[in-house]
Amino acid sequence: MPILALEIKASLENITNLVPADADHTWHFKIQCTKCREIDSNYITMNAIEKAEMGSGRGEANLVMKCKFCKCESSADFVSKPVPYTLEKSEKFAPIVTIECRGLELVGFEPRDGWKAEGAESGTVFDEIDFTEGDWGDYDEKSELPVAISSIEARFVKTK
Ligand SMILES: [Zn+2]
Repeated sequence: MPILALEIKASLENITNLVPADADHTWHFKIQCTKCREIDSNYITMNAIEKAEMGSGRGEANLVMKCKFCKCESSADFVSKPVPYTLEKSEKFAPIVTIECRGLELVGFEPRDGWKAEGAESGTVFDEIDFTEGDWGDYDEKSELPVAISSIEARFVKTK
């Protein structure tokens, strides 16, 4: 089964360790059915805490769904915990999470909200980072520096 790494690239200013704020973070993906090749125009959501039964006793996965076009069952399951995106990785693609996919491929990602990061100098925690409107910025009182995360891009890389 293919395992896909979600890699992100972002421009970080005076901030590091960008990662989902909670273990039950809601991830937003666009998916393509590998059987009929249709891409659902809606983003699907999945999180690492919820589990659903796959049909015919094949176990559980974080996401189990039926393609709305061909009705084939597909599933996706997180195989790693999120890896923080650090200041050293700024403006370079780096994997943030890996997902095993059956019958579907991930073709789009939106970060939306529910992220946290830390001031690179101060360690100040910013735990309500929201990319719904695009770039994010704030002011770190402790280090007296502006902090910002901008130009987020995402891609999926096959690891197997
Ligand atoms: Zn399909």
